[in-house]
Amino acid sequence: MSIDLYAPCPCGSGKKFKWCCQPIHVLIDKAFRLDSEGQHDAALKSMEEVCAQHGDNPEVWGRKALLLYQMGKAEEAEDALEKAFALNPKYPFGFYLRGRFRHVEGEIRGALLLFRKAVESYDPIATGILAQLQSLIADCEWRLNRPLAARAALRMMVRLDPANPSNAEIQEGYFGKESGLPSAATKEYTLRALPDSAAPDIKTAWTDCLEKAATGALNDAAKAFEELTTRFPQEPAAWYNLGLAKAWQGDNAAALTALQSAVELDTDEERAAEAWNLAEVVLLGDRMQDHADHVRHTVIFQVRDMDRLFNCFRGMEEGRRLLGMKASPEEGLLTGIVLEKVQGLTLEHTASKAPRLGAYLTVAGPFLRLSNTDRASVQAVADEIRTATAGALSEGNWQSGPPNFVEILSEALVFPIYAADEQEASRKVVEYFASYMEEHWIHKPLKSLGNVAPIDAAGHGVLRRKLRGIIQFLADCTARLAGQYDYDKLRRKLGLLGGAAAAPAAPGLAVDYSAMSTPELASLQVESLPDNGLEQAFQSALKLDASELAAKFARTLLSRPAAAGADRFPQVSHLIRQALAEGKTDEALAALAEGETLDSAHNEGKRAAEYAQRRGQIHAKRGEIDQAMAAFERMIAAAPNELRFQGSAAEAMLSAKQPDKALHFAEGGLKKSRQQNNRDSEQYFQELASAARKQSV
Ligand SMILES: [Zn+2]
Repeated sequence: MSIDLYAPCPCGSGKKFKWCCQPIHVLIDKAFRLDSEGQHDAALKSMEEVCAQHGDNPEVWGRKALLLYQMGKAEEAEDALEKAFALNPKYPFGFYLRGRFRHVEGEIRGALLLFRKAVESYDPIATGILAQLQSLIADCEWRLNRPLAARAALRMMVRLDPANPSNAEIQEGYFGKESGLPSAATKEYTLRALPDSAAPDIKTAWTDCLEKAATGALNDAAKAFEELTTRFPQEPAAWYNLGLAKAWQGDNAAALTALQSAVELDTDEERAAEAWNLAEVVLLGDRMQDHADHVRHTVIFQVRDMDRLFNCFRGMEEGRRLLGMKASPEEGLLTGIVLEKVQGLTLEHTASKAPRLGAYLTVAGPFLRLSNTDRASVQAVADEIRTATAGALSEGNWQSGPPNFVEILSEALVFPIYAADEQEASRKVVEYFASYMEEHWIHKPLKSLGNVAPIDAAGHGVLRRKLRGIIQFLADCTARLAGQYDYDKLRRKLGLLGGAAAAPAAPGLAVDYSAMSTPELASLQVESLPDNGLEQAFQSALKLDASELAAKFARTLLSRPAAAGADRFPQVSHLIRQALAEGKTDEALAALAEGETLDSAHNEGKRAAEYAQRRGQIHAKRGEIDQAMAAFERMIAAAPNELRFQGSAAEAMLSAKQPDKALHFAEGGLKKSRQQNNRDSEQYFQELASAARKQSV
């Protein structure tokens, strides 16, 4: 090691090397030279001599630790470091070295703590090693999914060692185009300015605060804004800046709390949404799972028999269930994607369905790792592989952590493996993605929204701002995988696109009722809508869970004269459901009678079996068993081969405590399912029959 005599001593004392550890480093260098020449014993002996002569200087123990670690003697290295810390509990090189040990072991959280301690204990003039420490901190923060903290550390690195030619390359490696990260994670965030309208006393305090924050030390910035939010707790810009400063420090929990206040206080929806977009980035950080909507679930198995595992993979590969398998033998890694098992009724049916992601798969050394943001999908793949490899895998060990930014909606991903060409494939991906977002996601309670579903959040001031931020973030993260999906469709459905009510349809211009939000649907003039418009509006309202609205469309439609071939079953069915939900069985029967009349007059009685089924169910519920039986018999006569009808009759009779009648339908179904050779149904009817027998005892 050749160190400039007038450079800061590497021990971290802050003294120049020449007047600090230079004399002993001559001896230390000799030991390292011997080691590099393969003379390990001699090297160690020489190092021990240095320790004997200069045992009161922690630097000799620190260097001994380094030498031992290089020789693969990790435990002895730790012992030597202990001796160094006994002499100086804040020995800077000791923190650095111990941090390196943890880093190599993959103990990232521990390494990060030690690197931060090292930064505090090195003398500020030791800019070279401090820059290196910031680069290591950036790496740790990066692995803990905290890109803002990583970026802040890199900024410090450049500030400490601006002339280092590798700075640009290091930054590019994390945040360049190749990173694949969404812009929410890679962009440079800046502190917000105080609005011009702010009171003079805040303005003065604000200027003082910015001066204190300008040192470049992250602690100073966070402290300054902490003070400011204590003095002026109503100022959203101060909370935003505090959140940002905390995120730069890697303190995501504190950042989240501050951003929460910023969004609550800020009535400017656009600006508040941006603050929440940042909060979503923060939520993807390490150890934020309790508050996060996106969590990666991983199960790890120890593989006892690799051959059996690879046999299983081959089987999956033949079934086109494994994608993108890649081996990197030098790292001992195998990675790929397992697709969900598609159960189609026929080969054609299977081929028409694009499978969803089952799990990301990694084989590293003797370990198999499966992960996905959807725990049930991982579980299904894990169960399948465990069964197929019979005993080749240990018990699974579950872990959860933050997913990569681009993985957050992997449950909405399908892989159209049977698509004819790329165009069809990407169309299918976008189609599925759209249906997931617009039919499933909008009803899913989100932790970010205090367990309120997006569809219910849009009408509430604070939740609405957050929701806008969430969608902004999702659009950013999924730009690659569902790039052609138009998030405005989702925003519109949720009523987030301003107050833009549906434009009145110009003559000859088709209106897309399927894209409308609840308020838009509610504002439609039902009388002026054409029949097919009412039908579409009815369907949209159903998908949005707007039950009352759907009923309104249904009633309007039923009040109009029906055209030949008009099927009004969906509307009638909804009205029945609604009446039953309110316990109004008379009303349900009235709607049912109207539906039956319409069906036989205009629809060739195509829904006779379904209406008879509803009738049977309602009468059974009312305890009118004879009428129920008559309806069910009519139902079976109308559709003798539909097993689900027999099943529903048996279930209704079980609920009505009529075991003999339930048994009658169960046995009828059992007979039919045997004739049809339908094993699943057979089992189902057997269960129904045994439930009926139990009830009659
Ligand atoms: Zn020194």
